[in-house]
Amino acid sequence: MVKKLSKKVKSELINIQKAVLTSPNETVTILKENVDPLPTTKVCQTFVMENNELALVLTHEGKVFFSGNIIWVGNRKDGQDGVEICVDTGKEMKTVIPSRDNAKLITLNPRKGKPTITIETMSQVRCTVCGKPIEIFDEVGVCPQCDNQSHLAHLQEWVRMKNSCPYCKTELSVLKDGIISVPLTAEK
Ligand SMILES: [Zn+2]
Ligand SMILES: [Zn+2]
Repeated sequence: MVKKLSKKVKSELINIQKAVLTSPNETVTILKENVDPLPTTKVCQTFVMENNELALVLTHEGKVFFSGNIIWVGNRKDGQDGVEICVDTGKEMKTVIPSRDNAKLITLNPRKGKPTITIETMSQVRCTVCGKPIEIFDEVGVCPQCDNQSHLAHLQEWVRMKNSCPYCKTELSVLKDGIISVPLTAEK
């Protein structure tokens, strides 16, 4: 007699990319639907993971960039859709900001014991200032005029020295809080 496959093992991986690229609320909702229990404390728009039991793994072309426990999931500082994820790698705290430019696939493996989010990264965008890829854990600086992207620190440094966008050459300045803007005098 042919042994019947009793229950088809259901695919363990859940694609959570859409939620992660939308908001902390959507992200935590889909996480809680699949990981039980997942106690969180909400502070403003930031969800603090109460027990360090949700792991994050960043991979790139089959290699692991780094992994660690998720400390919190919060809003993006730049006000765009999506989330910032703070990860404790055991050595340091890293902030990961997934976007359409740097995340190829974001999945959740809800297995008991150690539920894990895996982000398969890609670096499609290179920093205009240094020419190196902008990785998922790099802070991104954007020219308000042409939307060109650079590493935030590199763009700030460039604008402080040259008062212009490295790409479109529009006059720019760095405000006190590090925000890069078109100076009022240059606006029409
Ligand atoms: Zn750079
Ligand atoms: Zn520009």
